[in-house]
Amino acid sequence: MTITYEYEGALYVNLTNKCNCNCDFCLRHGKAQGSIYTQDSLWLEREPTRQEAMDSFLSRDIPSYREIVFCGYGEPTYRLDDILWLVDQLKEHFGDQLPPVRINTNGHANLINGRDVCPELKGRIDTLSISLNANNAADYVALCHPIQGEAAY
Ligand code: SF4
Repeated sequence: MTITYEYEGALYVNLTNKCNCNCDFCLRHGKAQGSIYTQDSLWLEREPTRQEAMDSFLSRDIPSYREIVFCGYGEPTYRLDDILWLVDQLKEHFGDQLPPVRINTNGHANLINGRDVCPELKGRIDTLSISLNANNAADYVALCHPIQGEAAY
């Protein structure tokens, strides 16, 4: 099971396969041949526990990376509580040596978790990379097929 992996000098973290979308272009469909995301090893047979993820971090030279990226083979904010716990643990361990932390997300964390999570990100997550994918709700739903429909846009 691959929980953390290196890519272009950053450490990527893979905590879940879950997603509330089913984007036509999703790498989970295996359309992007040659991409790291199409390797079978990134499909989790089960979700790792937060402690297993922490152990995977601690097996690596964390300060040597340019960035920590919570990404996954799904939408990482399904594991938001665990991400925040992990970042707190990593800050305790590495302090100022902890590289910047990013989440690659579809931007639906509030819908998924049923609360406004933004205040919880402050001081923990340095960057959010949000895939917008369309410039109106109808096109977004047609392309990304979120289970929440247009509310996701
Ligand atoms: S939001 Fe990301 S993980 Fe989810 S279906 Fe779309 S591309 Fe795939």
